[in-house]
Amino acid sequence: MPAYAYVFLLCYFSPSYAPKRMERQIGMAIKFLLPEDRIPTAWYNVAADLPTPPPPPLHPGTLEPAGPQDLAPLFPMGLIMQEMSSDRMIDIPDEVREIYRLWRPTPLIRAARWEKTLGTPAKIYFKYEGVSPAGSHKPNTAVAQAYYNKKEGITKLTTETGAGQWGCALSLACQMFNMECLVYMVKVSYFQKPYRRSMIRVWGAEVIPSPSDTTASGRAILAQDPDSPGSLGIAISEAVEVAAGRDDTHYALGSVLNHVLLHQTVIGQEAIEQMELAGAYPDAVIGCVGGGSNFAGIAFPFLGQNLKKGKKTRLIAVEPAACPSMTKGCYAYDYGDTAKLTPLVKMDTLGHDFIPADIHAGGLRYHGMAPLLSHTYHLGLVEAQSVLQTDAFAAGVSFARSEGIIPAPESSHAIAAVKRLADECKESGDEKTILFNMSGHGHFDMAAYDAYLDGKLEDYAYPEERIKAAMKNLPKL
Ligand SMILES: *Cc1c(COP(=O)(O)O)cnc(C)c1O
Repeated sequence: MPAYAYVFLLCYFSPSYAPKRMERQIGMAIKFLLPEDRIPTAWYNVAADLPTPPPPPLHPGTLEPAGPQDLAPLFPMGLIMQEMSSDRMIDIPDEVREIYRLWRPTPLIRAARWEKTLGTPAKIYFKYEGVSPAGSHKPNTAVAQAYYNKKEGITKLTTETGAGQWGCALSLACQMFNMECLVYMVKVSYFQKPYRRSMIRVWGAEVIPSPSDTTASGRAILAQDPDSPGSLGIAISEAVEVAAGRDDTHYALGSVLNHVLLHQTVIGQEAIEQMELAGAYPDAVIGCVGGGSNFAGIAFPFLGQNLKKGKKTRLIAVEPAACPSMTKGCYAYDYGDTAKLTPLVKMDTLGHDFIPADIHAGGLRYHGMAPLLSHTYHLGLVEAQSVLQTDAFAAGVSFARSEGIIPAPESSHAIAAVKRLADECKESGDEKTILFNMSGHGHFDMAAYDAYLDGKLEDYAYPEERIKAAMKNLPKL
């Protein structure tokens, strides 16, 4: 054996080195996994445990509370019943759980390296939803929605997509149930995110940039502004118009509605069990909010523990300063779309004619917040914060350099809020346990990361005057 090998072996097995090596090998557990049979068997409906029921949706014509029949042109009865249900637990069909097995249960991970980087005494855990085929939490509801539509004989679903994640999730789900899928993709994103568009096509769906000339709503917008960049509100109008005009076609929404939030509660239910495995319980649960579904998905099961078991976990929803529906918007009845085709729902809103600034967290640019989440917010059961996009990217990059995973820009908003709280713990010496939802990975958002790393990202806070002006256009009740 050559001399250097002896030196190496001597160093390697020397008593001063050995303990360090042992520590590295044994380490502390950082990944908490559940077996497949622990995929939840029912979704949790927080409405059953709230002190007052959320205000009902209203028919856009009569302004009376909308009944199941009013929603029937767009949704299957199975989902409408969930939308209006006050049952606490709603069984997950075996066919849906069978598909969940492709990526669920998702891992819960202790961000131990990032804790060290931040120098915080806080313990930080995250639930990682980026392991789904589409790379986000959205397939949790897409699969359920496709299933209930298929069961009632629907052969085609239409939808809108902003950044492309929801379009991906629904095209994947439709493919699994052998259904057709038509996606209206907000025009700026269609050109900014070509690979999300490609994925939608690989999963067999048709994708059209919105506003388009394929619908009356799209043509009306184009007549006013031929260069319209589009918005989720406009794309929803187009998708709803197509679905309402055909018997074999329904519409699917990726967030905001009660049944969407319901389907996402598999996240929080798994997390409760995994935190138990970790021997910890969160003092704070944090998630980013666009329409509110991934946050509600992780937070509502913990809210249930607060309400039923007297736990005191803080639940913090984090939105971009450029689209501040909870922190700056108005809690009022408003339309879900620009062309006023949807029922009126009471929600935190920036107005249905909102055209968002061109921030990179595409999934966080909707004008309204889920009515059920808005309701819990105004009951004082959840908190809201806003984050500037450069702070979100800074936190996301710091996280990626410690934990490896590159977060979706949306998830980075949650990460920035976690960092805020972890920094407070550093000041106070508090050893808080923080859990956040990592809603997805950012592999298709690399242009945005480049812009950040090249110092080209600008911060933007939505101006108060624009909010005041939009409030004048809210429906008068
Ligand atoms: C769509 C999306 C969001 C925002 O939508 P919510 O309904 O608020 O969850 C957040 N993160 C990712 C990765 C998304 O794809």
